[in-house]
Amino acid sequence: MPFIQFDHKPLFFTLRRSERAKRLHIIARASVFEVVAPWHIKNRAILQFISQQRRWMSKQLQRQTKKALEPKTVWPSQWLAGERISYRGTTLLLLVEYGREYGICQQEEKLMVTLPWQTKCTEMENVVQKGIERWYQSQAMQVIEASLERFCPILGRWPKAVQLKQQKSRWGSCGITERIYLNWLLILAPPGTLEYVVAHELAHLLYRNHGPRFWHKVSQLMPDFAQYDQWLNRFGCYLKPS
Ligand SMILES: [Zn+2]
Repeated sequence: MPFIQFDHKPLFFTLRRSERAKRLHIIARASVFEVVAPWHIKNRAILQFISQQRRWMSKQLQRQTKKALEPKTVWPSQWLAGERISYRGTTLLLLVEYGREYGICQQEEKLMVTLPWQTKCTEMENVVQKGIERWYQSQAMQVIEASLERFCPILGRWPKAVQLKQQKSRWGSCGITERIYLNWLLILAPPGTLEYVVAHELAHLLYRNHGPRFWHKVSQLMPDFAQYDQWLNRFGCYLKPS
């Protein structure tokens, strides 16, 4: 899909020639723009027009992202039963019970943590928090593995290794040794966000910059990636525990 860059980010568009259109205009759709042009207008004039509209297009994309994906990700004030915890852009009701051994299980909108009988009251919150963090990491790894299976055959390249990290300022990185690191906090973000960061870092196996060829590769892996990139720019800060 053709795109034009603004502020180092690609803005994707499709071009439609129309007999009825009286003038050049752009319609903003979810993460893609439709450029409608009368028959007689030359391609060069169309590109010039799009170029002039880049700032407006970027603003539209930001507004749509905000509408589509309001953040609901929050960290609970306490790790106790009755709190809501974030997961994949929504929240789960945290339930805690005692049983024979430790366990954690998601049932629709509930997350049930089972603590061994001998867990002391004073340790309970800490055990629940550590358990949920481990659960987040294993869920993140499942999403990452599914994403690698989806993207690597298209890319024709596989990373040497993939590891989870909780980085303070980055969502992922791709080293020169072809190892990919991903921030497991992304499991709190709406579906598609972690998948996008996987696609982004995989594309760095081929291109070590954020040039047009890099973004073209990302769009091949995940055509609707722009909305997730926007979401992270705007709301990524919500994912980090304060
Ligand atoms: Zn990058």
